[in-house]
Amino acid sequence: MAKYQPTIGLEIHVELKTESKMFCSCLNDSEERRPNINICPVCMGHPGTLPVINAEAVKKVIKTGLALNCQVPEYSQFDRKNYFYPDLPKGYQISQLYQPLCREGFLEIGGKKIKIKEIHLEEDTGSLIHEKDYSLVNFNRAGLPLMELASEPDMDSAKEARKFAQEFHLIMHYLDVSDADMEKGQMRVEVNISLARNVVRVEEERKLGTKVEIKNLNSFRAVEQAIEYEIKRQQELLEKGKKIIQETRGWDGTKGITVSQREKETAQDYRYFPEPDLPPLHITQDMVKEIRAEIPELPLKKKERLIREYGLDEKNTEIFVYNKNLGEFFEKVISELPPNLPKESLSRQIKLAVNYMITDLQGLLGGGSVNNENFKITPDNFAEFITLIYEGKISSKIAKQVLGEMFKIGADPLHIIKEKDLSQITDESDIEKIIKEIISKNPKVVQDFKSGKANAFQYLIGQIMAASRGKANPQIVSQILTRYLQ
Ligand SMILES: [Zn+2]
Repeated sequence: MAKYQPTIGLEIHVELKTESKMFCSCLNDSEERRPNINICPVCMGHPGTLPVINAEAVKKVIKTGLALNCQVPEYSQFDRKNYFYPDLPKGYQISQLYQPLCREGFLEIGGKKIKIKEIHLEEDTGSLIHEKDYSLVNFNRAGLPLMELASEPDMDSAKEARKFAQEFHLIMHYLDVSDADMEKGQMRVEVNISLARNVVRVEEERKLGTKVEIKNLNSFRAVEQAIEYEIKRQQELLEKGKKIIQETRGWDGTKGITVSQREKETAQDYRYFPEPDLPPLHITQDMVKEIRAEIPELPLKKKERLIREYGLDEKNTEIFVYNKNLGEFFEKVISELPPNLPKESLSRQIKLAVNYMITDLQGLLGGGSVNNENFKITPDNFAEFITLIYEGKISSKIAKQVLGEMFKIGADPLHIIKEKDLSQITDESDIEKIIKEIISKNPKVVQDFKSGKANAFQYLIGQIMAASRGKANPQIVSQILTRYLQ
């Protein structure tokens, strides 16, 4: 057992996908490249303006909370968090401290329930661009609806924290509350981490060590690496008998280290008080019920169902859960297979569908999505394609060609087979003709086979299949060849 036990909590900020900003009607448009276009007196904090709460943003936070098993209190309110920052034009941020929209939930990771302390709603700041001698500020982002989730310090490894962030990210997509693109800064992760000495005696309660915060982690990899680095750094300090300073550190991805930024502020430093310009929110049971009804099947449930319904293995199921669109396409394809198939036949066709989707189709897509406008394969054509392979009407080699054509032009597989002259040769006399030719060209191989070399047979099959351009029915080839070599 390691000498020191890490305790990890996460804070995750997510920009919500809404039409307009949190307290004004400016557009929430992450694609806007021109600076300071989506601004108005409200989000610029001009005197005399009043904020108006964006109902859509409130709904999206509640939806996230419900999906994460949170309580939604009947009353919620906004608070003013006072601090100066060049990209915060009002000199304060409207946030929630005392009565957040959601509290006390959990997210299940590998069978373990990681507790969620709260999820609240606030507004984003603008963004700064630092040049060599000066800095520029862009307020397009100022006032965007920003959701903040705070977990309890329930995690004990870098891998677990990474998994939490990944699962949360996936749920954002399922709920369609945020694009949560980490490269664009739409999802930003902060880590709280402390180390404590492992206590051997059970009755002695383990005390938490000094908490260090690592800010602005912009990829799952950065989350994992920063925690691993920090565990090592703190452990080395503790082993030397040194103290850990409570502070905020930043992650330098190029150097792979965390660097001290500032000593941590406490809530008192911000002089929070209830936002006087906004009324408290009253969330009725009916509202909660309505929002709950909009929650789709979530990743964990979907995973369990795919395994149960289609007999998929863990690995393939995860691909279909993480790639939501591919998973939905898979289910549509299966529903297009002929009805009332015997169990054995259905399960073999499901296996074929999974394999062709995960290897060949994903290869053709090259990172693209089956939801793209230019994706041409319909679920019923894909189902027909699978049935043709299952019934042995096309070999696996021909199947690849057919799928390639389907991907290119979108026609149904039978049409492609006819058009491209790819249909299988099942006529015995045609196959015999090819076999005779190959045998006469390879007298030595035939001799080898007769003197007991089994792989000579496979070699001949390969030659015959190649001569037929993959079109000869492999079973028939094998039968006739056996006869000829007797
Ligand atoms: Zn505005």
